[in-house]
Amino acid sequence: MSKPADANDECVGPESEQAGKASSCAGCPNQSSCASGEGPKAPEVDPAIASAMARVKQRVLVLSGKGGVGKSTFSTQLAYGLARRGLKVGLLDLDICGPSIPTMLGLQGREVHQSNSGWSPVFMDVQSDEDAPEEGELCVMSIGFLMPDSDSAVIWRGPRKTGLISQFLGSVDYGELDYLVVDTPPGTSDEHISIVQLLKPCFGPTDGAVVVTTPQEVAMADVRKELNFCKQTGINVLGIVENMAPMKLPFDNLSFFNTSGKDCTEDTLKELKEKCPSIYEQMRISVDVFPRAGGGPEKMAKVFDVPYIGQVPLNRELQNACDRGDPSHLSGENYLPIRNVVQHVIDRTNPTLLEEKKRAALEEKKVENTGKSGVVSIQGGKMFM
Ligand code: SF4
Repeated sequence: MSKPADANDECVGPESEQAGKASSCAGCPNQSSCASGEGPKAPEVDPAIASAMARVKQRVLVLSGKGGVGKSTFSTQLAYGLARRGLKVGLLDLDICGPSIPTMLGLQGREVHQSNSGWSPVFMDVQSDEDAPEEGELCVMSIGFLMPDSDSAVIWRGPRKTGLISQFLGSVDYGELDYLVVDTPPGTSDEHISIVQLLKPCFGPTDGAVVVTTPQEVAMADVRKELNFCKQTGINVLGIVENMAPMKLPFDNLSFFNTSGKDCTEDTLKELKEKCPSIYEQMRISVDVFPRAGGGPEKMAKVFDVPYIGQVPLNRELQNACDRGDPSHLSGENYLPIRNVVQHVIDRTNPTLLEEKKRAALEEKKVENTGKSGVVSIQGGKMFM
């Protein structure tokens, strides 16, 4: 039995003989039920959240142990990437003290409105991939939409944050979604406990978390705590993403200097292009920005027995897309790592979804075509097809 999200830090485990009796159980809300042998109280399901989540096929949390690993950038790309594949996606920004997603998607200044069915999130256009079964959709909810301006600070204590998280989960009209991607703040703080308490009771067997890290030990040390948090609270880890992995640059992104410090980029690139055109065109230079600790995130995934999803390299085009607030321009080799991550998430959560949508789109087309070719005209009491 996993440790309940509201258990004390030093929980001995509800199945332990000491459950509810150990000194570390003092003050735990489950103390009396654990001591009586009943085990921790089943988490209460908020009816509003249960009803909103019943309209969502899959829920994916994006977690990172540490700030600065590009978690919100990744969440944005994951949500937009799922929508590019022709899916209906909601992106919920729960980084209450540092909401950056509206900026990354170019949605600053947009407002959310309240209607009878709850708050309406902000919808944005999606440029779907050519092989997508239908046009994707992306709607976004963030505290950033409720702030007077992007420089305003949110200085809230735990209960107020919990109240807002509960409203964002239960009082927003996301509609029917294939995926809800939830961007969480870094660490394992109050917000995480609230998210797990409120959302976990609505989790299906394939819902879970993608954990984002960079390859340095300082980031991985915190991610190990995050992985233990998932284990203790029974959250299924869909995989670990190695973000900000070595950059892979084409030659024309580089500058060249001679030993006296003179910039000779133009001449060098010209010579390279003339003498080694295939190297110039087809090779990429890998730049390792962060030191790689031990076996890196891949080894950490093996140790924790969770899937290693792969690398998302540091990428100038990706950073530009976030700064410009336009994720649609990521293409070709720059888009591939994100598309691979998106495919992994689909494979781990709902592997037949795209095929089902393709089949449904095909059926719809057939019906449309049949309708067109089967137009019936009646002339002089006779039917002509
Ligand atoms: S009372 Fe139960 S859930 Fe709470 S800390 Fe003790 S063993 Fe864990």
